[in-house]
Amino acid sequence: MANSTWLVVGSGFTGASAARVLAERGFRVRVVERRSHIAGNAFDEYTPAGVFLHRYGPHLFHTSSPRVIDFVTRFAVWRPYLHHVTGQSGDLRYPLPPNFLLLDHLLGERSKSVQQLLISSYGDGARVPLHVVESHESDDVRSAAQAIRRIVFTPYTRKMWGEHADNLLPSAQARVPVVIGYQEGYFTDSFQALPTDGYTAFFRRLLDHPRIAAETDREISLSDLPKTQPVLFTGALDQLLGFRNGALPYRSIKFRLEATRRRMTPSATVNYNDDRPQTRITDMAFTVAADPSSTIWVEETPEEFLCGKNEALYPVPVARWRELHNAYMALLKDVHPNVIVAGRMARYQYVDMDQACASALRIATDA
Ligand SMILES: Cc1cc2nc3c(=O)[nH]c(=O)nc-3n(C[C@H](O)[C@H](O)[C@H](O)COP(=O)(O)OP(=O)(O)OC[C@H]3O[C@@H](n4cnc5c(N)ncnc54)[C@H](O)[C@@H]3O)c2cc1C
Repeated sequence: MANSTWLVVGSGFTGASAARVLAERGFRVRVVERRSHIAGNAFDEYTPAGVFLHRYGPHLFHTSSPRVIDFVTRFAVWRPYLHHVTGQSGDLRYPLPPNFLLLDHLLGERSKSVQQLLISSYGDGARVPLHVVESHESDDVRSAAQAIRRIVFTPYTRKMWGEHADNLLPSAQARVPVVIGYQEGYFTDSFQALPTDGYTAFFRRLLDHPRIAAETDREISLSDLPKTQPVLFTGALDQLLGFRNGALPYRSIKFRLEATRRRMTPSATVNYNDDRPQTRITDMAFTVAADPSSTIWVEETPEEFLCGKNEALYPVPVARWRELHNAYMALLKDVHPNVIVAGRMARYQYVDMDQACASALRIATDA
């Protein structure tokens, strides 16, 4: 097998990590990318005004996987970076994930007794999914959890997914937990960092191998897929299969950029958990360690994905779409059993960069 050639469709974290491991194992790898650049959604670049920017929104790398850390640190020097997010509901601001500061604000004098119950149930510093707290035996704890849902989660979920929070899969609901204590910080992983010269430079080194040939500006369609050669596909399955069973919905984001000379946000990112259409704003000076006197704010407004009009960025985490996706998986297996499907779009599943990388390493090592 070591002399067969792999086709890897897509040059994001999944495709590029897999390509590298396959090449190091002796395979030839052809990487084909639809966009005009490598690195998928992690792509970053300098704007014409000379400000460094993550083109598809802020990308913060975090992982606790020793295997992923060993892999990514081979291709970049990483600068430690702890991400902080502030929630804003109207005039009220609080740290995210929500912690005891928000409880103090919501419950006043009753806060301390609820905090004691939470600590004795889950432990000081634990991070607990909101739906778990909502099923606590104490009425007071349950009603505090419901208040957190109303303020923090419900408006944001509606904007982000175009769905009511009750319709989301539990895994999506659990992404932002409740902190049992006053601890702050968005992630808890042991490795939280950014590549010092950016993700695109990291991807260039990843793909720089004599057995890898990478090509951009070329879209692979069903008829381009070889029948016998091994293929790793990281794009959208409904599109690949001609929407035969109907289209899967995706969410896209409209990014509004504002070059500025001021620092406005109290933390790198402010999430708008209220009725305005935008979901968040990020000051790139925090995340890319740029000179704050000439920074760029990135404001995000979610919108429906329309093929050919914008980019499909997020699969919608709702059960009925998982079923449709499963049907596409079965269809592809019938017509192309030689195709392995991986990554955020192809699996129709929210994954962070480290998870995309981890599954690519597994696939490419076992292949
Ligand atoms: C706004 C936003 C913010 C995010 N922030 C974070 C963060 O802070 N931390 C984090 O860990 N993760 C973050 N992510 C998630 C991260 O971007 C993904 O986990 C990661 O991109 C997954 O990599 P992938 O290779 O599976 O997919 P992608 O990066 O989407 O790469 C897939 C590539 O395949 C190409 N492609 C698709 N179909 C075809 C085809 N038919 N032919 C040729 N090429 C094709 C696409 O153009 C794309 O470049 C964020 C995602 C978004 C959208």
